[in-house]
Amino acid sequence: MDNCRNQMIEMMLKQDTYIYFHIDFVNNGWHLENNPLFPDFTMSETDNPIEDLLKNDRLFGEDREKLRFLLNKLKDEGSFSKNDKYLKFQFRLMGEKQGVDWYEMRIYPFFDDSGKKVASLNGSFMKMNEREVKNRNILNFYTNDKNPAIFADIMAKRIKEDIDNKYAVIQFDVIGFKFINDKYGEAIGNEILHHINDILDLYCSEEQIYSRLSADVFMVVIPYKEMSDIYSFIRGLEAGMIGYKDIRYSFAFGVFLVEDRSMPTRLMGDSAGLARSSIKGNALENIGFYNNEFKANLRTKRSIEERMKAALNNNEFVMFLQPKYSISDSSIIGAEALVRWIDPEEGIIPPDKFIPVFEKNGFIVKMDQHIWECACKHIRSWIDSGIKPVPISVNVSRVHLTDSKFVDCLNDLVEKYDIPKDLLELEITESADNINANSMIKLAKVKGFRLLMDDFGSGYSSLNTLKSTPFDVLKIDRSFFSTSMESQRGQKIISHTISMSKDIGLDLIAEGVETKEQADFLYDCGCNTAQGFLYSRPVPEDMFDKLMKNNNATEHGA
Ligand code: C2E
Ligand code: CA
Ligand code: CA
Repeated sequence: MDNCRNQMIEMMLKQDTYIYFHIDFVNNGWHLENNPLFPDFTMSETDNPIEDLLKNDRLFGEDREKLRFLLNKLKDEGSFSKNDKYLKFQFRLMGEKQGVDWYEMRIYPFFDDSGKKVASLNGSFMKMNEREVKNRNILNFYTNDKNPAIFADIMAKRIKEDIDNKYAVIQFDVIGFKFINDKYGEAIGNEILHHINDILDLYCSEEQIYSRLSADVFMVVIPYKEMSDIYSFIRGLEAGMIGYKDIRYSFAFGVFLVEDRSMPTRLMGDSAGLARSSIKGNALENIGFYNNEFKANLRTKRSIEERMKAALNNNEFVMFLQPKYSISDSSIIGAEALVRWIDPEEGIIPPDKFIPVFEKNGFIVKMDQHIWECACKHIRSWIDSGIKPVPISVNVSRVHLTDSKFVDCLNDLVEKYDIPKDLLELEITESADNINANSMIKLAKVKGFRLLMDDFGSGYSSLNTLKSTPFDVLKIDRSFFSTSMESQRGQKIISHTISMSKDIGLDLIAEGVETKEQADFLYDCGCNTAQGFLYSRPVPEDMFDKLMKNNNATEHGA
């Protein structure tokens, strides 16, 4: 029997015309209709042709994943909507002799009297002709209602007319898609986009409409009743899209909930896009909801960009210094340079407000260089006035790590102020393995700078990067132990991290130390260097010098 069915699938697949099949959920059987090869053929097997296809070993591996996804959808009655005309599924079979054959399967659901439960499915297989395959590969994303311009009209109409439903606009993209393109090549990048598109095609019901906006950015518009509908929609979609062949990647989703139905669709999309970019870099949450704060942020961003150049010329970017202490004897052993924007009208603007903007528009390069120069100047002033200098670490944004200019710049500064190189240390946040950034970090090392891995444990850095990068010091992020300290297990992780770092010859400093207990615990674990509010906040240069003076005085017993 099995043999006979497999033969039939093979025959079905060979046909150039439509082959129909019918799956009856009540009897759990299937039969072929209007089939020239098998007139009046009926079978009451518990299987169905989709499952048979799944077993066919000519089916492409990636398409098998998608087919499984489709089967699950068919089994989950809730995922069908009465307005669904049909589901389309395109798949590849290894050609019998050579090459690849494309097929399209369409599945038409029929509903029982309640209108909810799928009672039976009619389906068809069809071999795609050359033109259809070509269209698929070139135009898949941009045909008909998937074209962004046409999509905007459809979306506006839906939202305006369907007043019984609330609507959510969801935008998403692949995190680090450029990196995937660089690493695996553009062809694979395109395959991944097709894969995402196929899953969207399968997953979205007639009421859930989608379009590809650009590159790896997609938009879906869905009606919803409860917020949980949105979450489960996104999680289900994500589960289907994630991973292609053995390439892993993740997504960033932004959601805008429509309130004003007459709002231009472009603005709705932009708002979802803002929500999407707001969660970038957040390792724990990948769904962001738009709120009104974003608008305010956008306004500040604009005003920051308008003012930044003049601010640099007016010396409004000021270096503050936060001392680093030895836990055992509370002496100052170094400092970190942290920028503050002192605006004549607004007062002190904290770096979190403007650094992300500068990192996006590239201005961070100029601003950092300015702070590096402040640090060198300050070290020079210590030497000139006979004060025993301590090293100052400066932050080096990842934006610098695209080329070797930053090393030249640092070298020039050290020469210009004629200071020992070991007094200027570099704090770098290491994120994903990036070959280019790594070679830049190595270059800085070769040129003799001492390197601190910033924010270790914050989710960006990993033990893995420790192996391949030449850092001298591990800077344990405050989030690492503020949350971990509470549990025994967390404490173990910290103490093991500390002993492991020592084993491989890395020095350590803990940042964000706020309580005596934290300092004691670190000390017990073997970390004797700390920076944090327990000791001092970042302070202006002259205040720092006073701290140093007091420190030297106590050190000498006066
Ligand atoms: P970061 O490099 O991790 O700097 C440490 C941040 O932790 C500083 O925030 C510091 O004020 C804060 N901090 C220190 N001790 C404590 C503590 O005990 N508790 C708490 N809750 N916080 C503490 P700040 O100065 O606001 O700087 C924020 C971030 O902005 C920095 O994080 C750094 O990534 C960036 N940044 C600051 N200055 C510069 C700069 O000149 N260039 C670049 N590229 N980035 C900078
Ligand atoms: Ca830092
Ligand atoms: Ca840090």
